[in-house]
Amino acid sequence: MAITPNDDPEDRRVAIAELILRLRRSGIMDKHVLGAIESVPRDVFVPPESQDHSYSERALAIDCGQTISAPVIVGMMTLALDLSDRDRVLEIGTGSGYQTAILARLCRWVYTIERFRTLVLAAESRFQTLRLANVTTLVDDGTKGWPEEAPFDKIIVTAAAEEVPEALLKQVRLGGIVVLPVGPQDGVQKLMRLTRTVDGFLEKSLADVRFVPLIPGKAAQL
Ligand code: SAH
Repeated sequence: MAITPNDDPEDRRVAIAELILRLRRSGIMDKHVLGAIESVPRDVFVPPESQDHSYSERALAIDCGQTISAPVIVGMMTLALDLSDRDRVLEIGTGSGYQTAILARLCRWVYTIERFRTLVLAAESRFQTLRLANVTTLVDDGTKGWPEEAPFDKIIVTAAAEEVPEALLKQVRLGGIVVLPVGPQDGVQKLMRLTRTVDGFLEKSLADVRFVPLIPGKAAQL
């Protein structure tokens, strides 16, 4: 459906209602997760040229050659984190800030790291527009995690690594959860959920996905 939600609040309401229905059909039933997604207007995070597709079930291009994930993937990753309102969450790959905003609705605090300054600045202004006051951003290489703020209750990575970054595994508490895509840069990756136990990590593969790559190092220019 082609819509321009910025132009008409009623169009936006209908588009969000349809999105919630699609999420339910794909098995995302948790009322807190659905409520959070319902409360975050995706069009605010989508560039002007893609506004008509703000609520479509697809990933969309954003600045710096990156993408905003498709809604069902965002729903699936959010659900897999099993968030509580006491959780402190580390997110790697702020991108547009859409996933960040949904996390912020469900947990105590989100620490989010992005390697492109341009994207962080744009995301921060969206958080202000939506009055999200429980997000701290950082322009840096997220593969190192955020040792000063660790341990985290939950960690989410929204870019794909060939191997799980060791530093992140060290920064999640016992009983905590890490959700991330793992696999080759130019192929299908596995969305994984890792739960920290006394003996290591309990692994569960959730879905086949395609994410942009997790690239070590801060971006030079942007
Ligand atoms: N969750 C985002 C999706 C962003 S795409 C959204 O909802 O819009 C993945 C993001 O990860 C990109 O913006 C990319 O620049 C970032 N990224 C890739 N490697 C990174 C790294 N090492 N550290 C921090 N961010 C990284």
